[in-house]
Amino acid sequence: MKTTFSSPIPRERVGERAGVPFFDQSESFRRLWPEIEHNCVRVMDDGKFSHGAMVAEFERALEDFTGARHVVGVNSGTDALVLLLRAAGLRPGDEVIVPAYSFVATATAVVHAGGVPVFADIEEHGYGIDPDSVEAVVTERTRMVMPVHLFDRLADMDGVGRVARAHGLTVVEDSAEAIGMRANGVHAGLLGAGGALSFFPAKTLGAIGDAGALLTDDDTIAETARMMRHHGRSGHTLAAFPGISNPTVVTGGNSKMDDIQAAVLLAKLARLDADIEHRAVLSRRYDDRLRELPGVRAVPGDAPARPGEERVVYVHLVEVDDRDGLVAHLRAAGIDTEVYYPRPLHLQPCFSDLGYRPGDLPRAESVCGSAVALPLYADLTDDHVDRVCDEIEHFLTGRSR
Ligand SMILES: *Cc1c(COP(=O)(O)O)cnc(C)c1O
Repeated sequence: MKTTFSSPIPRERVGERAGVPFFDQSESFRRLWPEIEHNCVRVMDDGKFSHGAMVAEFERALEDFTGARHVVGVNSGTDALVLLLRAAGLRPGDEVIVPAYSFVATATAVVHAGGVPVFADIEEHGYGIDPDSVEAVVTERTRMVMPVHLFDRLADMDGVGRVARAHGLTVVEDSAEAIGMRANGVHAGLLGAGGALSFFPAKTLGAIGDAGALLTDDDTIAETARMMRHHGRSGHTLAAFPGISNPTVVTGGNSKMDDIQAAVLLAKLARLDADIEHRAVLSRRYDDRLRELPGVRAVPGDAPARPGEERVVYVHLVEVDDRDGLVAHLRAAGIDTEVYYPRPLHLQPCFSDLGYRPGDLPRAESVCGSAVALPLYADLTDDHVDRVCDEIEHFLTGRSR
């Protein structure tokens, strides 16, 4: 098949506009369109649209980028978490300790994998799980701990590792937000038994729909996850089951990655380092304008660095006293923000059976009332950042520029 077509994204959407959307990747798509088109045409030619050669090619490219021994491409970050937990050996009823401050999929994935989430609080300075809080909730049923690398930082993997070793727990990572983050050169997701990445469109590396991947250096976890994403089918005859072709040896489901997503992701991966650098520049620009303003409690650049940590700013989160007032002011000025995360996980209605009460995990509860994510993406310009900062300054000081 041979076709050429121009980018479907209309030109008039590019350039100066009145507002600042929370997320927009139309310019990235325009810039990358020749590569994306080329890869998509290859998918059409191949004729296999799910779990095909393009998925395998993207997996190899991501192994190169992350240094992982195995990348298993799947349909979402959430399914990557479920497969990771199951492939790493979670059994029905096992407890998994997760932070109370995260995206809800961190905890619901544990339920889908047959486990029970147990919530720990976050650190005093930062948003990662607090190792002391993890230690405090370990029981004889605890099997795993799953730190989350939120926004722009790695969780305290040394501290979590110490608690895990003392209690014989497996460490798996919700590294959905953490592509490009490394500790002493080791990519997020490879600091324990394995990790999950999300390619939800707004993530640092975003698809044109849903996609995710599991990273691991462990051959058994990778092999099990590869079967689980495809109904548990082994894909080949196994010595243990002679005479049965493609035996179904574990219960799986359909978590396969689409080749069109892989085609887009492969094209975007080549620009990822440049996008990450641009995000860092924008994030510093925000910090320099915002850190001195009255009512601003914390800006991300001032959080203490962990030794050996390479940060990637996926979300630029600020904490302010009157968060809801600021959000309303910015919305009126045409600037979109998101509240990450509006409610701590232990107080979400779906977990009411677990018996948590307000006050149980005070740091997670407090940050949910003061944190707001500002626009940050590869297509954002200095000018956009200045406009957002002007409006924040206006709201907090009454002065306008
Ligand atoms: C985005 C995200 C997920 C879920 O990823 P999907 O690809 O949307 O399923 C899980 N955990 C965290 C921390 C996330 O940010």
